[in-house]
Amino acid sequence: MRVLLFLCLLASNSWASVESVSNGSLTLNLHFQEFGRFDKQRYIDAANQWLSIVKSVEGKPHHSIDVDIYVTSDINHDGEAGVLETEVVGGVEIPIHGEMVLHSRTHNSEFDYENAYTTVVHELGHVLGVGQTTEKYIQRVDALNGPAFCKENSKALAWYNKLYQRNYPCLRFAESGHLYDFVLADDPERDNDRQGREIPPMTNEVMANGLEIGIITTALLDDIGYVVEY
Ligand SMILES: [Zn+2]
Repeated sequence: MRVLLFLCLLASNSWASVESVSNGSLTLNLHFQEFGRFDKQRYIDAANQWLSIVKSVEGKPHHSIDVDIYVTSDINHDGEAGVLETEVVGGVEIPIHGEMVLHSRTHNSEFDYENAYTTVVHELGHVLGVGQTTEKYIQRVDALNGPAFCKENSKALAWYNKLYQRNYPCLRFAESGHLYDFVLADDPERDNDRQGREIPPMTNEVMANGLEIGIITTALLDDIGYVVEY
């Protein structure tokens, strides 16, 4: 009996180590699953970077999200992530539990570190809800020749229209749940808009496939229930 219990415990969580990263109002509990000698610092740094911009959940003094992190060679992309559980805060679904899986090659010394780090930042963005919480606002918009994020009073759309001097009704999204970009992402380039202008890609944004938690990514987090700092 005792042996069985021990095995049970071992199977459930004894190989996970937890690092909590917090800004006081929002906490990310990083559960490293069977990490061995894989570098954990990049995940802690990426969590801190998000928490310097995403300050809290709107209408809730403190919120925690558990993030299960795996490294494996069994995925095709460099990383994958998603939300596993949510709770409703002020009518909005906010993640309380998510998962991210990184390909083991991103931990190889010959893999470009900035690229590996940015992948972690990107996947954490999915854990916060980009791709999943955004999904219910995605519609096909003829004026944008495809799917777009259509939320009333969207801050992300307002920034996009301001930055690129457009007046679109919605924010162009990729089929895959990312910000639109045909330059770095494998997102097919769309036809021009009705005025014959290119629909500007969001190449620099980390929630496309870029390096920065840019203003549109930041505003998107604002749109899906977080208090952010611009
Ligand atoms: Zn992604």
